[in-house]
Amino acid sequence: MKTLEEIAAQLEGYDPQSLPVAQVQAFLRELVSPIQETQDVDLLEGLNRILAGDLICPIDVPPHDNSAMDGYAFAGVQLDSPQPLSLRVAATAWAGRSTLATATIGPGECIKIMTGAVMPAGLDTVLPQELAQLSPDGLSVTVPANVLRRGDNRRLRGEDLQRGQAALRRGQRLAPAQLGLAASLGLSTLGVYRRLKVACFSTGDEIVLPGQAPREGAVYDSNRYTLIGLLQGLGCEVIDLGLVADDPAQLRATFERAAREADAIISSGGVSVGEADHTKAMMRELGDVVFWRVAMRPGRPMAVGRIKTAERSTVMFGLPGNPVAVMVTFLAFVRPALLQMMGCTDAPPPLLKARSAQNLRKKPGRTEYQRGWVDTDGQGQLQVRTTGDQGSGVLSSMDRANGLIVLHHMQGPVAQGQSVDVMMFGGVI
Ligand code: AMP
Ligand code: MG
Repeated sequence: MKTLEEIAAQLEGYDPQSLPVAQVQAFLRELVSPIQETQDVDLLEGLNRILAGDLICPIDVPPHDNSAMDGYAFAGVQLDSPQPLSLRVAATAWAGRSTLATATIGPGECIKIMTGAVMPAGLDTVLPQELAQLSPDGLSVTVPANVLRRGDNRRLRGEDLQRGQAALRRGQRLAPAQLGLAASLGLSTLGVYRRLKVACFSTGDEIVLPGQAPREGAVYDSNRYTLIGLLQGLGCEVIDLGLVADDPAQLRATFERAAREADAIISSGGVSVGEADHTKAMMRELGDVVFWRVAMRPGRPMAVGRIKTAERSTVMFGLPGNPVAVMVTFLAFVRPALLQMMGCTDAPPPLLKARSAQNLRKKPGRTEYQRGWVDTDGQGQLQVRTTGDQGSGVLSSMDRANGLIVLHHMQGPVAQGQSVDVMMFGGVI
């Protein structure tokens, strides 16, 4: 395992006093490694878990040729003639009931078939009910000319998934589609990585717990709530260590407990340059740690480190105190690092491109994450505007936003109408 110094030495032009966002991300990719422990979970407990091995199909899906429509199944070879085709209805095939004997269905005959029913061997085409002209006695149907091709409305065995094929890959995050897919293979459990344990606490003598009486000069702890929400959304097991006073003994006890119990520790506050507090001193005393000024806005000060105990090595993220900076640094750095630790190999969601509805000031040499609201203009094109005051303590700017406008490191000012990148907050699934 490389020391933090060794990781830093790999980064070209590494300057802890002005570290580009991309270098922070590169540093973290080196710092963290995936957990190894796996467990089997019930499919219904699998949402957001990370698959620990390739999932090989034990069966074909669908397991048999079947009808995609309610209608009449027949041998499509008879469609060669340009004339309407008249077929005698010889039997009925219901979904889930045993296959009809093939021998009974000859040329000039068809069977009435339900959606999902097994197609008897030799029959390969289905006339949908809505196109069928049934004779008055109900004993035969006419297939109109030129409405069907051989093979229409039949689902082939294995057309979704074939036995022996990898249906899902190790490292995939399980979303509803993946759970349904595993179920379609007849599986009721899946092998996943164990949940990542993440400890979280707030620091600062001015911070008080929500629910307590307000006092002069105090600020309510909001960071632990945004962070825990973000961690729960990722599917982590959260160890809530509450609010920790700026006191060496309490900080030591908190870091030591977190290092024993968690894979990662996230603290907020107390890492600013020149801050006269004990958080930084304790991180330094207990672990291998670096303190950075990141070339970004919001969220400049940040500490990253590692504490080792006999049982494990725990990654520390010391985030800034300002509430927007906490969320932004989490999304930009902590989230990808935690996903890597969780064993997730999914590509990050792509940034969205939207037209800026206004001019945006921006200096090259730092990355800015402005809170934005994306919607569509009168022509149906995506546009984005910032959500008012962009101060790093203005948490309401996050509430009013549905994404972050990412103004990249070397990017300059943006003129109204130019396209910008947006990291959207929510996907649908
Ligand atoms: P710091 O990085 O500790 O200097 O904190 C920067 C700013 O963030 C200060 O105004 C703090 O009051 C504020 N802050 C720190 N921790 C929290 C917290 N847990 N919840 C809300 N605001 C905080
Ligand atoms: Mg502080």
